[in-house]
Amino acid sequence: MTSKPVLAILNPPPPHMVGDGFRVHNFFPSGFKLNMSPFFLLDYNAKIEFSARNEPRGVGVHPHRGFETVTLAYHGAVAHHDSAGNSGIIYPGDVQWMTAASGILHKEYHEKAFSKKGGPFQMVQLWVNLPAKDKMSTPKYQALKQSELAKVELPDDAGIIEVIAGHFNREKGSASTFTPIEMYNARLTKGGKVSFNFPAHYNTAFVIIEGEIKVNDSAIAKVDQMVHFKNEGEVIEIEGLANSVVLILSGEPINEPITQYGPFLMNTPEEIKQAIADYNEGKFGYLED
Ligand code: MN
Repeated sequence: MTSKPVLAILNPPPPHMVGDGFRVHNFFPSGFKLNMSPFFLLDYNAKIEFSARNEPRGVGVHPHRGFETVTLAYHGAVAHHDSAGNSGIIYPGDVQWMTAASGILHKEYHEKAFSKKGGPFQMVQLWVNLPAKDKMSTPKYQALKQSELAKVELPDDAGIIEVIAGHFNREKGSASTFTPIEMYNARLTKGGKVSFNFPAHYNTAFVIIEGEIKVNDSAIAKVDQMVHFKNEGEVIEIEGLANSVVLILSGEPINEPITQYGPFLMNTPEEIKQAIADYNEGKFGYLED
């Protein structure tokens, strides 16, 4: 086993608003051109304060097809509804894994009580691509509550690994995935160390949600930065230079053509045309605004 080298430490690109509820830094694919398949998109709402408001901010009804949205909350709370009849609130530490697949409509708003009070808000949303054979499968919804997430306590009070997907030290992640994906929240104490082992060809990046870490005993990454790794070697060691939270992402690339149009992520332009036609014909179902 050899060390997986750091390719780049990236600062968050300039933010933009998604609806009026999410102020996101798009690390990829717009901000930086990174090989991160099966992860297609990463929007990072760095921690900001939202003022109190009676009418919750957010994003209204919109469609998705051909992939999954994964929403991780760190501060604040998001209420979600979709046309498959699923709804829920994503609180800090929770993860919502929504498989849009053949097509879904959904809306995402600040949760009412949070909106009324206002306060710090910090989220990540990922778009996880699906292989061609699964793009038209039935939509699915996994609400992973913080209290129910698989967890591994690290020795020497180094912290805790929440295993969202994949495996860490034989602990199986809580989410089921279509392709091999490793996704964890690493909550490290100051001075706490942990090492990860991912195949060389997996695309791998870490997002520093809180604190500051040292990577492979050399590079330093601070809050809101992303560490992107080379497709070489297997082992990554990190150390908390402060109490830190790090989102760990690694996955086997899906080596298939991609065509994206707005909220649709398919393999060919014909499939995009079909998605638009199906959406216009109401085949994604119905959801009240
Ligand atoms: Mn959406």
